[in-house]
Amino acid sequence: MRPMEKREALESKAIVVHYGELGLKGANRPDFIRQLRNNLRQKLQAAGCFWAVRSIPGMLLVDVPEEADEAALARAGEAIGQVFGVAWHGPATVVPHGGFVGEQAAADWDRLTAAALAMARKREDPNASFAVRVRRGDKRLPFRSVDLERRLGGAILQETQWRRVDLTRPDVTFYVDVRERESLVLAQRLPGPRGLPVGCAGRVLTLLSGGIDSPAAAWLLAKRGCRVDFLHFSADEPNAEAIRNSKIWELARSLARWTLGARLWVAPYTFFDLALMRGRVDHELVLFRRFILRAAERLAGELGAEALATGDSLSQVASQTLSNLAAASEAARMPILRPLIAYDKEEIVRLARRIGTYEIAIRPYKDCCALISRHPKTRSRADKIAALEARLFPDYERLIEQTLQAAVRLDVPSEA
Ligand code: ATP
Ligand code: MG
Repeated sequence: MRPMEKREALESKAIVVHYGELGLKGANRPDFIRQLRNNLRQKLQAAGCFWAVRSIPGMLLVDVPEEADEAALARAGEAIGQVFGVAWHGPATVVPHGGFVGEQAAADWDRLTAAALAMARKREDPNASFAVRVRRGDKRLPFRSVDLERRLGGAILQETQWRRVDLTRPDVTFYVDVRERESLVLAQRLPGPRGLPVGCAGRVLTLLSGGIDSPAAAWLLAKRGCRVDFLHFSADEPNAEAIRNSKIWELARSLARWTLGARLWVAPYTFFDLALMRGRVDHELVLFRRFILRAAERLAGELGAEALATGDSLSQVASQTLSNLAAASEAARMPILRPLIAYDKEEIVRLARRIGTYEIAIRPYKDCCALISRHPKTRSRADKIAALEARLFPDYERLIEQTLQAAVRLDVPSEA
């Protein structure tokens, strides 16, 4: 074996995955890391990368097989970028070392320098500036971080096309993390979505409409670690094939990339509508909201969900005045999470674009709310609402039962 081949045989490829430091204190930490690791594995597999994910102190490491090509690495990077709990990630070269002491020292230095040079050559740019940042996980190493930074930076200047070092605002930073038995060399820190791993924070049932807001609300809760299922009320009789051709399905699929799968229930709103026909009434929208929340609460109980979620944003439309939100909330005992409550429409649109639901949400769709009321009341009085419900829906239990019995359930896979 020539020396070069020997070096390459010792090195390996990996992807470094860093989690955020926040929320990582105390007893939950091992659970958090275990969940993140499982989620990463699941997402990677969906992207066709059946790679091992290991936990090393302070981070996770995805072992990239020798034969993986750039396309596979790119797919893996994209998948990891959709896993909540990831603060940043980046492809790395793993270079083993023997402690940089004794007879080993020279070989250790050569190997690490060669790996840094190879990384630097990949991104060579004589007009750009660079910096080398070293972190020493193992404080027993016989050098300081700055020594290593100087040494590797000097080698890069001498051996490659790089010409300019800038320690304050480098265009490119090469990161070297020297750990107990190996060093990680990487040239990129790609931002992750942060948040907490899905599965750490219980289950919520999201009332998913065909609009822009509720998908964004579901995404935000998944970002805080919730498992998310969806319930949609449709004006048509639900049928699996039609649902699979609808924008609701597309929205659910698009979200399931982030939520690692989900279940979608589509329930008809016909039974409610029929009951409502008995008389021309005010407050239809509030009655509708109370109806969907009650039905959702019943389903959530069956699923082991601990809360409901909606895309409400305070005062965005007439149905979302504080008074109407309060009148709706009274219908359910379960907590109703409204993560968008203080968002401006523009902020919601920006979020929806970023997560990929906006383009789907703006497609035309027959939303049942649009059918109900053109001039919703902005104030609702609890006693009046209760009296109306008693008159219109003498058997509310039955209304909910019929509605949920006619619901269709579809499993939404977690795709790449
Ligand atoms: P969105 O953009 O989410 O549709 P919106 O601003 O259009 O919200 P509304 O139509 O008043 O607001 O609905 C408020 C919330 O009620 C929605 O975010 C959603 O959570 C729930 N909701 C409305 N219509 C439905 C429906 N047909 N099925 C399930 N949930 C619904
Ligand atoms: Mg809507």
